Amino acid sequence: MAEATEKPLNFIEQIIEDDLAAGKNDGRVLTRFPPEPNGYLHIGHAKSICLNFGVAQRYGGKTNLRFDDTNPVTEETEYVESIKADVKWLGFDWAEELYASDYFDQLYEFAIKLIKKGLAYVDDSTSEEMAAMKGTPTVAGINSPYRERTIEENLDLFVRMKNGEFAEGTRVLRAKINMASTNMLMRDPIIYRIKFATHHRTGDKWCIYPMYDFAHGQSDSIEQITHSICTLEFVPHRELYDWCIESLEIFPSKQYEFARLNLSYAITSKRKLLQLVNENFVTGWDDPRMPTISGMRRRGYTPEAIREFCDRIGIAKRDNLIDVSLLEFCVREHLNKVATRVMAVLDPIKVVITNYPEGKVEELTAENNPEDHESGSRIMPFSREILIEKEDFMENPTKKYFRLGPGLMVRLKHAYIIKCDDVVKDENGEIIELHCSYIENSRSGNDTSGINVKGTIHWVSEAQAVDAEVRLYDRLFKVEDPSREDGDFKEYLNPESLQVITAKVEPALKNATLGTPYQFLRKGYFCLDPDSTTDKLVFNKTVGLKDTWAKEAGK
Ligand code: ATP
Ligand code: MG
Repeated sequence: MAEATEKPLNFIEQIIEDDLAAGKNDGRVLTRFPPEPNGYLHIGHAKSICLNFGVAQRYGGKTNLRFDDTNPVTEETEYVESIKADVKWLGFDWAEELYASDYFDQLYEFAIKLIKKGLAYVDDSTSEEMAAMKGTPTVAGINSPYRERTIEENLDLFVRMKNGEFAEGTRVLRAKINMASTNMLMRDPIIYRIKFATHHRTGDKWCIYPMYDFAHGQSDSIEQITHSICTLEFVPHRELYDWCIESLEIFPSKQYEFARLNLSYAITSKRKLLQLVNENFVTGWDDPRMPTISGMRRRGYTPEAIREFCDRIGIAKRDNLIDVSLLEFCVREHLNKVATRVMAVLDPIKVVITNYPEGKVEELTAENNPEDHESGSRIMPFSREILIEKEDFMENPTKKYFRLGPGLMVRLKHAYIIKCDDVVKDENGEIIELHCSYIENSRSGNDTSGINVKGTIHWVSEAQAVDAEVRLYDRLFKVEDPSREDGDFKEYLNPESLQVITAKVEPALKNATLGTPYQFLRKGYFCLDPDSTTDKLVFNKTVGLKDTWAKEAGK
């Protein structure tokens, strides 16, 4: 049984608890995560991973990672590797790494068994003829003229299909169920088709391949999966799933469905994400704007934050659209606990502290993370010439402006209070630098000045600061639900989703490492990008400190 928690059980957990209480499956819980290796995993898959691995963990069970690789045309080994890396990164370990293609021999034997039971037949109709005979949801279909073939004839033809004697599209194997069923999928579904394609694992061994509905449930059954969790579009497939298992008299895995995760301002379809990659709308599957797990990792999202998000949204039985700001909230909440605080000036203006000795460099101590007192501290150089954000100065400050303005005082974080004495402009009237004076006895940690200032701003010392390319991201799409809009989803791409700037960062960031989260004080969370070299730092903005999008959208 699960440990006592405050959260009510979700409906899958309830089913599992009922099954355990009834002594089903000898108390075993075995789930599977079954990606088709035809693309990189996205946030929707993360939801499925957290659910499948999560419930198994909770009930002392296990989860298999099964590659659903029965379609030879779209699958690639690169995808298999990326999927494994992503599941591990999310923090989960699978019991076994399996491939549906490893079951091709057994699935073939299952098909033979169905034929022998009089439950499958080879159909020579063209796909147009089959479609015409299928009927409509309100009109029953009609039986194919090949439906009453003898078992011997069916066996002979199916073996010859397997041996490559017939061309693609000339024959299929169909389950013999009911052409009048109200469930269209039960109207003698195709279970095997001829395809002369090289498979990423079985090569040219096979020229017939099982259809999804004749592979998935049987794979579950072969592995003795107890709870096969999938998304709602498979509800109509459940009847066929059960029919196959019953007809074949194999282990009775059970299918349960939950609502897919749809995320606002994003696309969660591998097929569409692949278009963005292939047509160069993004730099790759791991472009930090992509809702892929690899994109989110590169962007600086953490596995903890993604798991927390999946947990918070829970599981539903109805499709809905989840606001991406909830995901960003979870990211911000986790990064706040773990990010190293540093100073970076994204849009600099120079400040000369006229009463500070020329050539002097003070080494100030700055705490790495006030949320975590074990995180240590680092040295920040302070000198006469520093850089601050342009937006932290206002020539004609409004009443509530507590940053720098002519005659105003502000505290430099970890350093001194300064006062703006003079604004230096070029011939065009553009401000080029500010002349300030500092209060000598106001140093942070040792302030005896008695002066109280309301504003604190960040800064870097000009001579020691390092250039860094900073990539600022906005939503990849301009509309909330790009899949639902009319026309091509690519019309709704946000042309301003990437802005590249050069910032000045404190020298400690020369030692920045991949995977370490940083908070650029007052600016947001950032992480080093793998494009960085020893000569050039590149940072990605992970997320802002506040939800600025909600403000802009007038919410
Ligand atoms: P896509 O349309 O992106 O290709 P898919 O469902 O075809 O998605 P699979 O690789 O077949 O992708 O999915 C593996 C598992 O992840 C399946 O169990 C599937 O139901 C689940 N899954 C895929 N997308 C989502 C989603 N948006 N929300 C929740 N689960 C999902
Ligand atoms: Mg699929």
